[in-house]
Amino acid sequence: MTVTAVSTFQAPKGTYDLLPPDSATFLAVREAIAAPVRRAGYGYVETPGFEHVELFSRGVGESTDIVTKEMYAFTTKGGTDLALRPEGTASVLRAALQANLHRAGNLPVKLWYSGSYYRYENPQAGRYRHFSQVGAEAIGAEDPALDAELIILAADAYRSLGLTGFRLLLNSLGDKECRPAYRAALQEFLRGLDLDDDTRKRIEINPLRVLDDKRESVQRQLTGAPLIVDHLCEACKEYHERVRELLTAAGVAYEDDPRLVRGLDYYTRTTFEFVHDALGSQSAVGGGGRYDGLSEMIGGPSLPSVGWALGVDRTVLALKAEGVELPLPAATDVYAVPLGDQARRTLFALVTELRRAGVAADFAFGGKGIKNAMKSADRSGARFAVVAGDRDLAEGVVQLKDLVSGEQGPVALSEVADTVKERLV
Ligand code: AMP
Repeated sequence: MTVTAVSTFQAPKGTYDLLPPDSATFLAVREAIAAPVRRAGYGYVETPGFEHVELFSRGVGESTDIVTKEMYAFTTKGGTDLALRPEGTASVLRAALQANLHRAGNLPVKLWYSGSYYRYENPQAGRYRHFSQVGAEAIGAEDPALDAELIILAADAYRSLGLTGFRLLLNSLGDKECRPAYRAALQEFLRGLDLDDDTRKRIEINPLRVLDDKRESVQRQLTGAPLIVDHLCEACKEYHERVRELLTAAGVAYEDDPRLVRGLDYYTRTTFEFVHDALGSQSAVGGGGRYDGLSEMIGGPSLPSVGWALGVDRTVLALKAEGVELPLPAATDVYAVPLGDQARRTLFALVTELRRAGVAADFAFGGKGIKNAMKSADRSGARFAVVAGDRDLAEGVVQLKDLVSGEQGPVALSEVADTVKERLV
């Protein structure tokens, strides 16, 4: 076994820490993605960070990179084969089936989630081994309006963040009626190409994924490959047309991308991806589609479903690339600077009172002198400093200093909360 020396303070390769102040943007992005789905009746679901490995090998697909190369799979001391979750859909569907949510009689079951996902990828800008997604799944209904709803919600989430540089790519992958014939036609075409052994194997297991190969040498040979759009059955064509009409009616622009297959095997019919052109090679900010067969693949009943997952990390990168600053609430509105022991007790109590009144307040901890304490007040980003010494307290007042204008004046201790609240709006 090779042992690589690592620094104790070094986060593992492909991971990064979220720290203030940037972490506030990250949280705001999660919130902004969740807000539209909450308004559309999706309930919050949280599943474990790891699952039985078969859930992903059966669900995501034995031939996908995610399962064959990127899964953090391990055997526990008790001999159970588990994997850190590489994606959310299979777990959410598993949880819904386990709890019999689909039998409660109110389909579709609409769920949203937010969490960490793990893939052993080659790290680069925008591609990490630990990343965050917010996702939404609508389980147990086949209705083009549901596909459209989810796509519209995702587009609205990006818009609400102020992003403008994203595009929506749309495709249909057909269903169990029309896909087999297309698959065979594609296999025949692909077998005639000059491809390496791994790709040849892929032709036999999941030929559609070869279309997704990013290598220039492969893409060049794919010109003229049969496309699913020319092989869709009437029902799939009709379904796809309805989805497109509903998107157009909602003012959501899309581009037809007949090559869009995505990296997971479970998709049927509608598939889509949101890309942002300022992000270089890792341009996908989110994606999803319909997965009518997944429930049966993992041993459940037939439950046609649709969902998406949006990448939080890349959405944050897209905001940076567009120069969008989110309007974040101040971490601290009021910073209290006590001068002397009596003032420490009084201002500490005042800080508690302010917080209880909904004002973000902080305190000069550690017995700093006034100079240092005022520096900390400035650094905290607070709009106001509350300064008080024995003489102020004897008069029942504190000095309220507006750190933006520099103005300062006495305010009765009992009126600080109201005064600050009035002046903050
Ligand atoms: P997928 O589950 O592969 O469809 O991914 C959905 C979204 O999650 C992508 O569009 C990305 O925004 C994000 N994502 C997937 N893999 C990674 C990764 N390794 N690092 C960062 N974000 C990722």
